[in-house]
Amino acid sequence: MDVYKSIDEVRGAIKKFKSDGKRIGFVPTMGALHEGHLSLIRLAKKHADVIVASIFVNPEQFGPNEDFDSYPRELEADLNKCEDEGVAIVFAPNRDDVYDKKKYIRIEVDELNRHMCGGSRPGFFEGILLIVNKLFNIISPDVAVFGQKDIQQFQIVSQMVREFNHDIELVMAPIERANDGLALSSRNKYLSDEEREIAPGLYRALTYVERQIKSGVETPSLLLKHQKSELEAKGFKIDYLNVFDKKTLRPVNALKEGGEYILAGAAWLGKTRLIDNFLIEL
Ligand code: AMP
Repeated sequence: MDVYKSIDEVRGAIKKFKSDGKRIGFVPTMGALHEGHLSLIRLAKKHADVIVASIFVNPEQFGPNEDFDSYPRELEADLNKCEDEGVAIVFAPNRDDVYDKKKYIRIEVDELNRHMCGGSRPGFFEGILLIVNKLFNIISPDVAVFGQKDIQQFQIVSQMVREFNHDIELVMAPIERANDGLALSSRNKYLSDEEREIAPGLYRALTYVERQIKSGVETPSLLLKHQKSELEAKGFKIDYLNVFDKKTLRPVNALKEGGEYILAGAAWLGKTRLIDNFLIEL
């Protein structure tokens, strides 16, 4: 496995694989790798010959009061995990390798970032598109794999791929969970033992609502309200818990036969923000 910090070097290495006719699969990450990330790598291998993973804690997607400084950084352990999974190339640049001091060009998101995580994290998706756009241009993969855990990210990146004509196939990997249902996340490291016990409550609340919807509830607002209060009573601070249209990412009140929805929640437990979601097709 080769590890590069420099854009020119990683491009050179990828060019060699491409000239041998290899299909390049790309898995972008912010490191502190867990089974969720590794499942993306395994899925990428089914769609490509050579896997490139990136490890970069992207400062542009953190708000001024967010956890950029405390975000876990475990490069050595991450590289071992990548090597064990058969990754060919890791691109792990420093901030100065990818960003100029002053930026004159920005990508703006319209509508798709109004609700869900975009609603409470201003600039978050613009920061993500900035780095994903750069990484797509640097790596020029044939296929890129992202997780359903960040479903709004997947939908917005898909839209960018369409509107900016990136010649890249996107694949969405299902959510990897702990045995008790908690969606795996690098941020779960922030949870105290007591919070870790409570944390699967978000998954359980979503599971309950999903079951009700599947058994015929068409207007889930009361159900959601009740689940929110139950979670709050357990110590969660709810950011959102709602059903959204899969395409527009707008909240939906009345569900229809044939509709495609995202049942999603985000909540704080102490200083940890947890997110989770279910895709629902009626
Ligand atoms: P991150 O390092 O948090 O930026 O995540 C990198 C990629 O891994 C993103 O595409 C995430 O959606 C994906 N990912 C993170 N956690 C999980 C999980 N529990 N299951 C599946 N994919 C995940």
